[in-house]
Amino acid sequence: MSSVTPLNALGEFGLINRLQQTITLRQPSTTLGIGDDAAILSPAAGQDTVISTDLLVEGVHFDLTFCPLKHVGYKAVAVNVSDVAAMNATPTQIVVGIAVGARYSVEAIEELYEGMRLACEAYNVDLVGGDTTASRGGLTISVTVLGQVAQGQAVRRSGAQANDLLCVTGDLGGALLGLQVLEREKQAWQADPEFQPELEKYSYVVQRQLRPEARMDVIYELRELGIMPTSMIDISDGLASETLHLCQASGVGARVFTENLPIANPTLEVAEEFSLDPIMCMLNGGEDYELLFTVPLADHDKIKNHPDITIIGHMVPQSEGANLITKAGQAVPLRAQGFKHF
Ligand code: ADP
Ligand code: MG
Repeated sequence: MSSVTPLNALGEFGLINRLQQTITLRQPSTTLGIGDDAAILSPAAGQDTVISTDLLVEGVHFDLTFCPLKHVGYKAVAVNVSDVAAMNATPTQIVVGIAVGARYSVEAIEELYEGMRLACEAYNVDLVGGDTTASRGGLTISVTVLGQVAQGQAVRRSGAQANDLLCVTGDLGGALLGLQVLEREKQAWQADPEFQPELEKYSYVVQRQLRPEARMDVIYELRELGIMPTSMIDISDGLASETLHLCQASGVGARVFTENLPIANPTLEVAEEFSLDPIMCMLNGGEDYELLFTVPLADHDKIKNHPDITIIGHMVPQSEGANLITKAGQAVPLRAQGFKHF
């Protein structure tokens, strides 16, 4: 390991100064970034602004035993960008508040910011400010993201209509199984500090847990295809729970076909190893940060062969309820169970 500088050697302003030097601004709407009492933003005319915050608390949302700070930083930004994506908006700026316990070094905070810097680069977002304070406990990170969308083009949870197709991006259940693997390795390591975790074999699911991506790629592709979702939400708590959110907000029901649910092969293998039902993992596993959205039936042909999008069902009148349709054709009411974060 390289040198370790205690936080108090630099002080709050020294730390902010040091962090500021690594930050690049890319957005035309950022007029002034870090350094004054507030940042100045100048969004283009005809745009709506979306804003959202996510708070990450050590021991609740992340566990530094198995999550490198760089990944925590990346994920903190990615989960916020995911909320902007779910509004059909483009992320533009973030502000970051951190409360840091005394056991953290300057280098540790720099690692956290390196992860945030990488995510800012990946999503073309400017870090324009924040706040820094000491904490009696561990690390708390609050990220607020701003995004832009052409006026009136933001997609809410409430626009789904009966007969709309229900679609999901990517594949599901991976983040939950990644967490199962990490928890198991942690227990083995706590029992025997000589224990060397073998995560290679589980790299797909571990990556899904530690370093999720916001699906901005799909948002840009939908725009190119001329597809405007009627409703949308990102999957942070699990497909079942998010489907029910869309149904409730839109005043409709849904039919979700278990046969259509997308799972990656590595996820399926880990589910088998842990004797977990893959369907339950896809329905109730959180933190996949894929997008769940509805489109008019007329868009079927535009979307059916898209490699990153799966049609998993369709919306129905509210009176029919929200049901899972099993392989045998049986209807089972969808329930928001959710696997709670550790
Ligand atoms: P104030 O006392 O007015 O809140 P600060 O000294 O906290 O000012 O902040 C000075 C500048 O540094 C501001 O532009 C602020 O947004 C930025 N800043 C402070 N903490 C952070 C942080 N953790 N990450 C990014 N920018 C920060
Ligand atoms: Mg401040």
